Amino acid sequence: MSDTSKCEKCGAAVDAGELVEHSGQHLCEDCYMDRVSPLKPCDPWAVHNARGAKNLATPELLPLQRLMLDAVTAAGAMAPDDLAARLDVQRPELDKQFAVLRHMELLRGFKGDDGRVYWCRF
Ligand SMILES: [Zn+2]
Repeated sequence: MSDTSKCEKCGAAVDAGELVEHSGQHLCEDCYMDRVSPLKPCDPWAVHNARGAKNLATPELLPLQRLMLDAVTAAGAMAPDDLAARLDVQRPELDKQFAVLRHMELLRGFKGDDGRVYWCRF
């Protein structure tokens, strides 16, 4: 009779004496710890909050948001009307997406020397 057995979760060969019974399954120590650990490292909100919006190197952007970001990045700064014309987008829609990008601290607005409002990278 063999003195080794298999973990029913990961299939690792483990000494029979080291298997832990949990919920009717025989688990190796690692799987058992995973199963009973109260830590939930995959909690999306915890991860989100820990990273902070500013540290999102490649946040999920809508295609239009990506276009806006690329255009402004390439130009350095762009007036919203120029950007709207460039991307062929209506201002209300553009302003809505700008608000999102601003919230993500990717774009911000500032007033140029000529008194016009420009958008640039944060
Ligand atoms: Zn296991």
